[in-house]
Amino acid sequence: RQEQYRQLRDKPAVTRDGQTIDLMVNAGLLVDLPHVKEAGAAGIGLFRTELQFMVAATFPRMREQLALYRAVLDAANGLTVTFRSLDVGGDKVLPYMRSAQEENPALGWRAIRMALDRPGLLRTQIRALLHAAAGRELRLMFPMITEVDEFDRARELVERDRRYLERHGHPIPNKILLGAMVEVPSLLWQLEELVARVDFLSVGSNDLLQFLFAIDRANSQLADRFDPLSPAPLRALRKVIEVADSGGVPVTLCGELAGDPLSAMALLGIGYRSISMAPAAIGPVKSMLMSLDLGALQNWLMPELHMPHEGLRKELIAFARQHDV
Ligand code: PEP
Ligand code: MG
Repeated sequence: RQEQYRQLRDKPAVTRDGQTIDLMVNAGLLVDLPHVKEAGAAGIGLFRTELQFMVAATFPRMREQLALYRAVLDAANGLTVTFRSLDVGGDKVLPYMRSAQEENPALGWRAIRMALDRPGLLRTQIRALLHAAAGRELRLMFPMITEVDEFDRARELVERDRRYLERHGHPIPNKILLGAMVEVPSLLWQLEELVARVDFLSVGSNDLLQFLFAIDRANSQLADRFDPLSPAPLRALRKVIEVADSGGVPVTLCGELAGDPLSAMALLGIGYRSISMAPAAIGPVKSMLMSLDLGALQNWLMPELHMPHEGLRKELIAFARQHDV
């Protein structure tokens, strides 16, 4: 199997009926970088910047952040890289950072909430990213956006630093693309406003499912209780791509769902064309999509999505069997 996947590496990710799919990897540390090429990925769909902070003993300084981001962009060698601003709090703890005890950390002071309250941290990171991407493209997204106003405020911080660097004659990125992660359900009812503001969207299905189902993503006792391949979450995911498509905004999905071949099949079936996953998942997912008649899947799945359903997962499995996926 491993050998079989290795042979797929240089083959384009195209479905049997000719649809090209962007397969990207999630990464976060320097050791992940060789995997981008080994896996034959189209780029890094999610670079989790908090990992550098989590393995450090104290806050990484600006020049340390800059060195990592520059190394990532150098290694990507022109492939797209989407950085995510610091996503700490919740399940991602920095031992050296004092924070108040919270009863529900997943619902607490985390990610962009913390960043906007303590803009010093975010500004240091933004400065490091602007320097690292000087003369090339910078793609940056913000985690846990809950209201569009938070995206506006984060964008303004980037803009301020960009103007400052420009005024002082520093080299800056030749293009800056800013996006929001869709992982808090409240955004599902602000998609039109969001799409009017962002350059791209990225669905964080781990958190989005956690919050949709009100199920702790780390609680194994509950892991099998609700099925992501059922109508409610798939309708929510479909809504994102529908509004984004109509606004001409590209969308990627970067949660664990993307790395499971059956779930990835369902995602393609509801309209996703760009998914980002752990490097080891690229082979199995590529093998799935190369044997997939995506048109046939869409013709069957899209009407099904809006009908009452029990056991959609079983039907997806049956579709895959019948069509030799
Ligand atoms: C997600 O929430 O789906 C996601 C990609 O981010 P993380 O797993 O780092 O929270
Ligand atoms: Mg998340």
